[in-house]
Amino acid sequence: MRILILIAIGLLLYLIITNFLRKQKRQQSESISSAEKMVRCKYCSLHILEQEAIQEGSNFYCSQSHLEADKQAK
Ligand SMILES: [Zn+2]
Repeated sequence: MRILILIAIGLLLYLIITNFLRKQKRQQSESISSAEKMVRCKYCSLHILEQEAIQEGSNFYCSQSHLEADKQAK
């Protein structure tokens, strides 16, 4: 009887792990398909999607505040 419980626990763990890995894999492929062009914030070097970035000339920023902070640093 104890062996059955161990098998059940093992099976459960196996299902949890494979489910977790499958979810992770799906997230990865989703991020690849939705990842368009990545740009780097000139101020903090954070990588962001180009469509979410704020462009100022040839420079990109992750937020309006970093755009202003970089301008003030000059
Ligand atoms: Zn930034």
